[in-house]
Amino acid sequence: MLYQSTRSNRSVSDTHAVLEGIAPDGGLYVDPSLVSRSFDAESVLSLPYGEKASAILNHLIPGFTETNSRLGSIYASRFPHSEVTPVTKAGDYYFLELYHGPTSAFKDVALSVLPYLITEAIRKEGLNDTVSILTATSGDTGKAALEGFHDIDGTEITVFFPDEGVSAMQKKQMLSQEGKNVRVCAVRGNFDDCQRGVKEAFPALKNSLPGKQLSSANSINVGRLVPQVVYYFHAYSQLMQSGRIRFGDPVDFVVPTGNFGDILAGYYALKMGLPVGRLICASNTNDVLFDFIETGVYNKNRPFNKTASPSMDILVSSNLERLLFYVSGQDTGFVSECMKSLSETGSYRVSPEILSEIQNIFAAGKCSEEECFRAIARVWKENSYLIDTHTAVGYAAAEKYRSGLAETDDAFSHPCVILSTASPFKFPASVLKAIGAEATDDDFENARRLSSLTGVPVPKNIASLESKPILHKDLIDPSELISYVKGE
Ligand SMILES: *Cc1c(COP(=O)(O)O)cnc(C)c1O
Repeated sequence: MLYQSTRSNRSVSDTHAVLEGIAPDGGLYVDPSLVSRSFDAESVLSLPYGEKASAILNHLIPGFTETNSRLGSIYASRFPHSEVTPVTKAGDYYFLELYHGPTSAFKDVALSVLPYLITEAIRKEGLNDTVSILTATSGDTGKAALEGFHDIDGTEITVFFPDEGVSAMQKKQMLSQEGKNVRVCAVRGNFDDCQRGVKEAFPALKNSLPGKQLSSANSINVGRLVPQVVYYFHAYSQLMQSGRIRFGDPVDFVVPTGNFGDILAGYYALKMGLPVGRLICASNTNDVLFDFIETGVYNKNRPFNKTASPSMDILVSSNLERLLFYVSGQDTGFVSECMKSLSETGSYRVSPEILSEIQNIFAAGKCSEEECFRAIARVWKENSYLIDTHTAVGYAAAEKYRSGLAETDDAFSHPCVILSTASPFKFPASVLKAIGAEATDDDFENARRLSSLTGVPVPKNIASLESKPILHKDLIDPSELISYVKGE
């Protein structure tokens, strides 16, 4: 199965695309036949999670036969919930809970599988090198990737996070990570600095790390994207099982968005025949995607805000590049121009035709910090259902989107699924404040308070962190990232 770069027509195998992470021309690997190859969406809907995952991965990355046969056991061993990603109804909305994995964030769904994909790719490509994973994180990818890759033979992993841009709980999760092949490094900068540094490290280090092949655990890696397609299908199945819909009925999905990876997986599901109505892209006050979807102008020249939903504090959403590829009719010249303009001027504009293609599928919603907190309070008060700050941005965006629809609009009757991307216990101080309780400086104490106030148990992985020692102390400037990777 051939993949190609978003910026040129150079093709590589799916195993190579996963191994390399990012194309040598700086583009992202995409499946040029995504739209033209047919997939029997209806037939996979009755399957349990693991088998659904097998069918979907077999369609998108058929080269990974060994990993494919293990998906059922991978999910069963890491996601204790029998549905893996259960849907819970609260009020008028359905919440797709993606946080029942080892680090309590949705990144676990893909990062539980990516190490298997990478090690299989090493074998299939006949490589003797160590695969060195470089990862920039806005908080959740880092820990999920460390959990996935620690002590996996033939790999090593380095995670860069913004020193002051992650929650205390996220920081503790990363800095206490054990494993002989892991490095964790704080960066004096924001997530965009980390992500740019990592992207630049690939071409800069190409031939200067003998015996090593660089790859990425960020959603620029297509191996990160593909496992995320599965839960859109699984959410749809659960709505069918509950009797809410029949096959063919459109379902809207609201996605708290940062790097555009999670929502792009929804676009893939749609292109594979899942009856998706609208994909609603939810932003916090870093609303660059909101403006893009509304106007067709992507402009990152604006202040970077630190918010209570730090995993969405991103101004350069890498995976949008993949969407541009598809909505432009796979025009690599156009994508290259946009990306050139983005790096030179910080902005680009798409044509009215492309914008309308995007708006046919995507809608945008954004919310202020106050609206995010009010959303947590309202969902708790009205439904006794606890959501985290990122999910709350989704909820607030969903409310705004729906309030803009006329009751006569077909879309008004669509079930609306909000992707619940993290456990509230990853951000206990914010969630406590939102529901009107006091928070302390100690996040573990906050987690216990939140639990005793709400009766919701603290996830084990979070409770057990408290007594773990800090093992990583490195702190660098963004300009030092490449020499840090080289070990200088
Ligand atoms: C990463 C993350 C997001 C954003 O997902 P993208 O794929 O980067 O758009 C939203 N919420 C949480 C909790 C996350 O960890």
